[in-house]
Amino acid sequence: MSIEVQHISKCFGAFQALHDVSLRVEEGELMALLGPSGSGKTSLLRIIAGLDSPEAHPDAKVMMNNENMIHTRAGNRKVGFVFQHYALFRHMTVFDNIAFGMRMRPKKERPSKKEMKDRVEQLLNLIQLENMGNRYPMQLSGGQRQRVALARALAIEPKVLLLDEPFGALDARVREDLRKWLRRLHKEIQITSLFVTHDQEEALELADRIVVMNEGRIEQIGTPDEVFHQPRTEFVMQFLGSVNLFHGRIERGEAVFGPWKVPGLLGKCPEGTAARLFVRPYDITVQPDQQEYEGTIAFIRRIQSAGPHVKMELEPESGERVIVEISHERHATLKPRVGEKVLVSLRNARVFTEDYTI
Ligand code: ATP
Repeated sequence: MSIEVQHISKCFGAFQALHDVSLRVEEGELMALLGPSGSGKTSLLRIIAGLDSPEAHPDAKVMMNNENMIHTRAGNRKVGFVFQHYALFRHMTVFDNIAFGMRMRPKKERPSKKEMKDRVEQLLNLIQLENMGNRYPMQLSGGQRQRVALARALAIEPKVLLLDEPFGALDARVREDLRKWLRRLHKEIQITSLFVTHDQEEALELADRIVVMNEGRIEQIGTPDEVFHQPRTEFVMQFLGSVNLFHGRIERGEAVFGPWKVPGLLGKCPEGTAARLFVRPYDITVQPDQQEYEGTIAFIRRIQSAGPHVKMELEPESGERVIVEISHERHATLKPRVGEKVLVSLRNARVFTEDYTI
């Protein structure tokens, strides 16, 4: 089942948490709502689930399979919801927790005891907790509890799955395992899913497409590759991965940032327009200070080689400090030393002005 929202706004008193948001999740897609705390992700998810209503607007719609559900009660939307804090019933076994939604159905829709048992066992298999039906939530790890919460959401055979920071309360290692597990599970069951996260790594690794949100608005919707490599806004560029940021101006058709110049703006931006240049740390080339190389002179101020890459902090003769990432292989060839002079050049730099991006 596809999900589509159109012209959704939400106010809490005088504060507007969502500003005219529209998006579509295709059938079977796994989509991430990514943004910092307070960007409106949960508010949007709750409106889709039917737990909250949007502001009245003649064109506001919450469509599921092209049918407007905006006035349909949450219980009738066929939506499975998983929250950050497992929200399992502590006094019920894992089995009873998973069966809960089925037991709550009106009598004529309720599966028989045998059907219920089969369904719960099937779900316990799916979440790889086959022999744990008799345990209580207290007797499970955080990751296991969250898998039970997912099974409970799936037990009612929802048409869409909404997950609000499902791994938010878990430690980094468990999160990573659960991410991989959820990706595999989604491939297997292909249920249209929308999950909220503020963790860019999680979104990039898990989602088919990502919706980047900021202050109640959508900044960009795209595949992980698109939002990462072709960020449409400064916010997206900064939010996804680390960046070096330089402030500069347009001068005679070039954007000038201290020692760096980006040509190609002649006639496109008025002279003197403020501009910002962004470059990822691994998009900076460092060469020895030798005649055959080109680049801006900079001094190495710090080298940190513990980790998957070697990080260096460089100080150009004029201009702001730069963080550079090089491979360990390159580090072994270059053999950089703190205090040494090197030549630096930029690749894939992106320039943003108020109304222009290159
Ligand atoms: P987080 O990652 O911290 O959960 P979020 O992106 O999910 O953030 P929301 O929970 O949707 O953001 O909140 C968006 C804004 O709306 C926040 O500034 C929040 O304080 C405000 N807000 C949310 N719910 C309410 C409420 N019931 N009453 C008043 N303000 C609210």
